[in-house]
Amino acid sequence: MTFANQISSSLWAATAPDRTPAAALAGQAETDVAVIGGGFSGLSTALHLAREGIRVTVLEGAAVGFGGSGRNNGQVIPTMTAAEPDAIEARFGDVGERFVGLIRDSAAYLFDTARAEDIDCEGEQTGWFQPAHRASRMALSEKRVEAWSKRGAPARLVDREEAARLLGSEQWFGGMYNATGGHINPLALARGLAGACEARGVTIHENCPVASVERKDGKWHLVTASGAVLVARSVMLATNAYTGFHERKLAPTVARSLVPVLSWQMATAPLTDAQRETIVPGRQAVSDTHGDLRFFRYDKRNRLVAGGALAVPVNGPERLKALVGKRLAEAFPALGTPTFDYVWNGFIGMTEDRLPFITRLGPDFWCWAGCNGRGVALSISLGRELAGAIAGRPLEELALPLSEPKPIPMHDLVTRLALPVFLPYYRWRDTRD
Ligand SMILES: Cc1cc2nc3c(=O)[nH]c(=O)nc-3n(C[C@H](O)[C@H](O)[C@H](O)COP(=O)(O)OP(=O)(O)OC[C@H]3O[C@@H](n4cnc5c(N)ncnc54)[C@H](O)[C@@H]3O)c2cc1C
Repeated sequence: MTFANQISSSLWAATAPDRTPAAALAGQAETDVAVIGGGFSGLSTALHLAREGIRVTVLEGAAVGFGGSGRNNGQVIPTMTAAEPDAIEARFGDVGERFVGLIRDSAAYLFDTARAEDIDCEGEQTGWFQPAHRASRMALSEKRVEAWSKRGAPARLVDREEAARLLGSEQWFGGMYNATGGHINPLALARGLAGACEARGVTIHENCPVASVERKDGKWHLVTASGAVLVARSVMLATNAYTGFHERKLAPTVARSLVPVLSWQMATAPLTDAQRETIVPGRQAVSDTHGDLRFFRYDKRNRLVAGGALAVPVNGPERLKALVGKRLAEAFPALGTPTFDYVWNGFIGMTEDRLPFITRLGPDFWCWAGCNGRGVALSISLGRELAGAIAGRPLEELALPLSEPKPIPMHDLVTRLALPVFLPYYRWRDTRD
């Protein structure tokens, strides 16, 4: 296994409650709903279906939380990265409005769900702050605050002085603040959701990649890599950026509509009490307006969890330690030169139009993918909506703006070139007004 595939080196693997992997499926079984993928999307869908008494079986190719859900920065953010509310509503009309409402409420819904299911995921609903990295980017913050406030979100504009107090740094110029956001230990949430599902009767199989899904006699037949078969009325494909990871042929149209981009995560040694008094003393989740994103949050043990991207992954961990260490030291001189105890990475599913696609791949066969870097809160809420669709609620009541996956021409090449080409461009754009 290459470094890119590991999650064992992550802070979350070291700190999340243990989970004994469930056995893989053997032989033939039947269920009402088959969920492929044991991340937030699959588990949230399963949980919401199980709450309605519907029989669900989750087939996970590796382990619960193996994909983005167990590897992310854990920032619970009630916005998309680039898709703005006006654009979503202009494209999708009424259902777009419902979807914008879903995004608006998604951070609060995640924390509510964790509380309702009694999941200890080290959740801290301390707010999410998006500081502007140049004075000119305050126009973007103003526009976003206005757009979200108009739709009832508790978004507010923070000026330069308040930003300096919130961050303990003079480096930013103000920004957008939303008190419903915060952060979690993501692998703890994934494993907690799996436990909550099992407690409600959901069957989970791990180390159980699905190789194919076929329609026979009005039912779906899912065949695993080891030849076991699950027969189901409905299917939810919740494999997101990891769609082609275990089985390239599983859903090639979905896989080719996403560019999996490698994002690196790292955790410092725990900060001292004196450092914590000045550095983000309110413990907000922070991700700024850079295209080459600066982001950080505390974990429960007072480590700063940050990260970045590299145009070329050669010698990744060492280069990232130098790059991210320098950025943190510049922003927070009280840190000195930070040391990093954990470095890991994972794939983010990017789409051409920066919007997720929610789609039907056949009768009663649902899928969503393409979080574009903001899928923690979103996937929990989308799981609820997709469970509603699978349970038969009318689409007019749901926040599911359907669209077709759009396969990207020369997908392999684009995937290989995405970071080498786009990251330098983003870095250049970050320095312009
Ligand atoms: C490094 C990183 C940092 C991020 N930081 C943030 C953040 O701070 N905030 C935020 O909002 N978003 C963040 N994201 C995005 C967020 O993590 C994802 O959008 C979210 O976790 C997606 O959840 P999911 O359940 O849809 O997919 P995943 O969690 O990726 O789960 C997909 C699952 O499908 C399984 N699978 C794949 N193929 C098969 C198969 N053939 N058979 C069975 N199972 C299969 C995989 O093993 C995997 O477990 C980040 C992502 C990464 C990678």
